[in-house]
Amino acid sequence: MEYLPLTDQDEELIQAATDVIRRNFVLGKHHVGAAMRCTSGKIYTGVHLESRAHDICAEAVTIGTAVSAGERQFDAIVAVTVKDGDPPVVLSPCGGCRELIRFYGDDIAVLFIQDGQLRKARAADLLPGPYLDPKDRKRQGGEPPPACDAKLP
Ligand SMILES: [Zn+2]
Repeated sequence: MEYLPLTDQDEELIQAATDVIRRNFVLGKHHVGAAMRCTSGKIYTGVHLESRAHDICAEAVTIGTAVSAGERQFDAIVAVTVKDGDPPVVLSPCGGCRELIRFYGDDIAVLFIQDGQLRKARAADLLPGPYLDPKDRKRQGGEPPPACDAKLP
């Protein structure tokens, strides 16, 4: 995987994610914050939502917030967790969020942790071979997927 160089803007994004979760931390409800920079230069933030039924990741809330504000082009995203007084910890996006982020842009830079180190990579590199249903492939000008010849036991 090709890593992208970390910049001061990445630190600013981590700080924005840290700030939003520090302001809104509620044990059992909100313990992850995310921040996304759009190509407009604006940064949007969000916190994850827990419920009895299912959780919604902070990245999804943040992308939804940016889209709801009219943004359509995205530059970078990061998720962070904090506990009382502890330093912020960058989280790697879950598989569902990797699909979501890549759906909104192959070139979105994603900050994540690998082997204990902060890394940055393109969404397309973090999730090769994303899910595409046949309609998506046709809309993108590609061929439908080949029929699966696998035999079930
Ligand atoms: Zn997620």
